[in-house]
Amino acid sequence: MPAIKLTNLTKTYANTSKPAVNHLNLEVNDGEFLCLLGPSGCGKTTILRMIAGIETISAGEITIDNTPVDSVEKGCFVPPEQRHIGLVFQSYALWPHMTVLENVSFGLKIKKVPMAEQQRRTQDVMEKLHIAQLASRYPAQLSGGQQQRVALARMLVLNPKVLLLDEPLSNLDAALRLEMRSELRRIHKAFGTTIIFVSHDQWEAMTLASTIAVMSDGQLQQVGPPNEIYTKP
Ligand code: ADP
Ligand code: ADP
Repeated sequence: MPAIKLTNLTKTYANTSKPAVNHLNLEVNDGEFLCLLGPSGCGKTTILRMIAGIETISAGEITIDNTPVDSVEKGCFVPPEQRHIGLVFQSYALWPHMTVLENVSFGLKIKKVPMAEQQRRTQDVMEKLHIAQLASRYPAQLSGGQQQRVALARMLVLNPKVLLLDEPLSNLDAALRLEMRSELRRIHKAFGTTIIFVSHDQWEAMTLASTIAVMSDGQLQQVGPPNEIYTKP
């Protein structure tokens, strides 16, 4: 069963003539690690924002776990907080006045999850991400890679069905980026979460994803496993 299905998905921003996303069809299977690969401006971020429900769609349909969450034709719209989607951007915007522990547990607090469960889930996710020993530090006291882990933990603690990552490694230096790639693979295995990862870096896509969807100009060019993807030089 596809975790996410995009059908004829189209987005034309106000005051623009060319669609940013143009009749796009894509199925992302449960537990899959899919990379949306393409040059800057081809529509990748727009797709993630529409899946998360923070950008309106112009035409087509988005289905999560077989439930339409956004459909022009059916006139339905499920708000972002009910979609069980976690979104992590390249700038993590951790709350500077909160410790790591407070940053990670904040979403559970907002959802009024019982205190004992908050503590258990926060501890569990911090251990899985190897940041438990940093619990009482503030974001300014963390390295880039550690901040990245906290940003991921903050999303994973909410048990999202799907994790949307928008070039989350692009602010890290080359060595850290390499380390975080293997971290991401480990996290994907440990949590079994469906991941859509946006990148303009073919090498990054090849080393991370189980499926690569190559985009250009608001449309998909090819979809397949890394060894079958050929990008024209
Ligand atoms: P990518 O993530 O692949 O870099 P985006 O989804 O950010 O691409 O952008 C796709 C296209 O839509 C680009 O041409 C961009 O300029 C345009 N675009 C993005 N956001 C807006 C907006 N709010 N208003 C108008 N055009 C936009
Ligand atoms: P205080 O009341 O001491 O200012 P809170 O933790 O109650 O601090 O935060 C107030 C609100 O501001 C919260 O809803 C929190 O989500 C929001 N907030 C704080 N920092 C940020 C940030 N960097 N980015 C986005 N929202 C933030």
